[in-house]
Parts: sequence; C-alpha cells; structure tokens
Amino acid sequence: MAHYVITEPCIGTKDTACVSVCPVDCIHPRKDEKSYETEKMLYIDPDHCIDCGACQPACPVEAIFRDEDVPPEYKHYIEINAHHFGRTIKAKD
Ligand code: SF4
Ligand code: SF4
Repeated sequence: MAHYVITEPCIGTKDTACVSVCPVDCIHPRKDEKSYETEKMLYIDPDHCIDCGACQPACPVEAIFRDEDVPPEYKHYIEINAHHFGRTIKAKD
C-alpha cells in the first residue's frame, strides 16, 4: 500500500505536529519515547501507515510526502523511514 514518508526538512524541526494528527500512531519516536532525545528526526512506519494524508498539512516545513511523490533528492528517505522500524523497502526509480 502507498504510504507517507518523512524527509530531510524534519531534521532540526522535529516538533511532533504530525504525531498528534496520525490516527494509527505510526509516527515515531513520540516525545514520550526514550529515543526522541537522540533521534534527529521522526519516521513513519510504512507497514502501519494507512495512507490517509492527515500528517502532510500538519507539517510546518513540508517534510512529509506520499511515497510516490517524494522529490528525487529525498528518495533515500523512503528507505531511512523503513529502516528505523527494522523494515526494508526500496525506493522506486
Ligand atoms: S498518512 Fe495518515 S496514517 Fe500515514 S503517517 Fe500520515 S497521518 Fe499517519
Ligand atoms: S510535523 Fe514535520 S517537522 Fe514536525 S515532526 Fe512531523 S515531519 Fe517533522
């Protein structure tokens, strides 16, 4: 299923605005998780995202894209998001 991906602009912002609007709690780490302090950005679990799109307009820095709309310079973030959850996924060319 298509899913959403967090990309580079989240780095240094990481305000968790997207976390509060996600209906399935698939954006991590949340502020109440230990790894929130050490992670430089947030990630979307590709296996649990239901492709609803609610997170995208909530992001103040336009870091969130649907997988097929990720700009070329951010394509590697598709894999980076999946990797955070121990999953493997390859960006389509
Ligand atoms: S698209 Fe919907 S389900 Fe997927 S991360 Fe965003 S808010 Fe959550
Ligand atoms: S709303 Fe955007 S900047 Fe804020 S944590 Fe989510 S992806 Fe990162």
